[in-house]
Amino acid sequence: MSVDLGPWLDAVPRAAAGAIAGSRHALVACHENPDADTLGAALGIAAIVEQHGARATLVSTDPVPPLYAFLEGMDRFVADPDDAGDYDLLVVCDCGSLDRIGAVVGRHEALFERLPRVLVDHHASNTDGGPSDWVDPEAAATCELVALLAARLGVPLEAGGGAMAAALMAGIVMDTSTFAHPNSTPRTLAVSAALVAAGAPLSEISRRLYRSKPDAQLRLFGRVLDRLEVTDGGRIIHSSLSDADLAATGTLSAHSEGLIDLLAQSETAEVAILFKEFGPESTRVSVRTKPGGVDATVLTGAFGGGGHARAAGATIQAPLAEARARFLAEAKQLADAVSRPTGA
Ligand code: 5GP
Ligand code: MN
Repeated sequence: MSVDLGPWLDAVPRAAAGAIAGSRHALVACHENPDADTLGAALGIAAIVEQHGARATLVSTDPVPPLYAFLEGMDRFVADPDDAGDYDLLVVCDCGSLDRIGAVVGRHEALFERLPRVLVDHHASNTDGGPSDWVDPEAAATCELVALLAARLGVPLEAGGGAMAAALMAGIVMDTSTFAHPNSTPRTLAVSAALVAAGAPLSEISRRLYRSKPDAQLRLFGRVLDRLEVTDGGRIIHSSLSDADLAATGTLSAHSEGLIDLLAQSETAEVAILFKEFGPESTRVSVRTKPGGVDATVLTGAFGGGGHARAAGATIQAPLAEARARFLAEAKQLADAVSRPTGA
């Protein structure tokens, strides 16, 4: 059985679809510290390009976390493109701003400058969109947009023996927390129905991404949750993860994925924050906020970051303790400004 995405295809911009369909060799880039949405979207774009008889090179400045290795094609990502490559298009996936592509751009400045570009993204904070880009903050995931691009260009979602459908499904599962977040719309569900009909193993993907972890990772979660702090009369919950935690539990930085969503389960907190030491001079911050409350892009935007209204992040060039103090002061201001009807 296949699901008809026809009613949703008018939303696909002609310019972006035309550029991707016309490419002979696309360089497809995802964001630093990649997740299932950026990786799945990049694999989806590659499948579209390849179904048109062309080539795709996939680039990720950071290694693909082991969590995603179960998806076919994850071994295709390289850290650096070939400066002499015959690429004719750059497709940037799930990057809320162009600097999110990361350090690889600095290593190949001339190449990234030279290539015509299509940005496919769903971050509300994105202001880098140009005329041939497709930025749709209504989309739950960039993979939702890529599935529509495929359908619009007549590429069967079954392409690659189901590998494309699985990769795109993984991005949607990741960014909706398996349809639990308010970003899931009727279109998200229609696209997901089409992906499942095309062979995506929804339940298995959800289990892998959200309900299966190495024991060392569970131990890391235990340490970080044990030291959580609640401030501002319960409106802010936060915790911190240091390099020493990773060393003590034998985990990688990527194993912090999911921790912020546990902090965000606090019944009282308007803002949940996880601070992650990122070398001696740099701190990564993840933020989640309650519907109708603090806009997470405003909070992280004050520190050069961004993302979505309910989930956003930033990197602060300061040691953990200093970054935490500055960020908590800003969070308090915003959390204090939230007014809720009493009894709500
Ligand atoms: P997470 O907290 O899961 O790392 O990120 C939450 C959301 O915010 C994701 O959609 C991610 O792409 C976005 N995000 C995280 N860090 C940054 C950042 O430094 N800059 C921008 N623009 N977006 C970010
Ligand atoms: Mn995304």
